Amino acid sequence: MDDAQLARFKQILLKQRAEILQYADDTVTDMNDQSENYPDPTDRASIESDRNFTLRLRERERFLLVKIDEALERISAGDFGICESCGSDISEKRLEARPVTTLCIECKTRAEAAEKARGE
Ligand SMILES: [Zn+2]
Repeated sequence: MDDAQLARFKQILLKQRAEILQYADDTVTDMNDQSENYPDPTDRASIESDRNFTLRLRERERFLLVKIDEALERISAGDFGICESCGSDISEKRLEARPVTTLCIECKTRAEAAEKARGE
């Protein structure tokens, strides 16, 4: 992968990172807004389930944030876009769809089949 391609993926990753951080900010603000009292139990129930939904999302976002940071480190280290399992180049098309990936499509497919076989 040449410098121009790496720079482009770096931009994509930094943009995703900024979006997640922005989203996390919004979520925290929303949760503070909800700290007032809601005497109606129906309201309270729907607020609770909203909050659970938000917390679940945030866990997923946090996980993605770690993945993005790791991908940015791989760009700095010069091994971005290389499959960590077989060492071959990950296709640019796959990286565009999922820039945080560390496996080529063949290894990913194999890993998923192995997970299924183990019943995970
Ligand atoms: Zn591979």
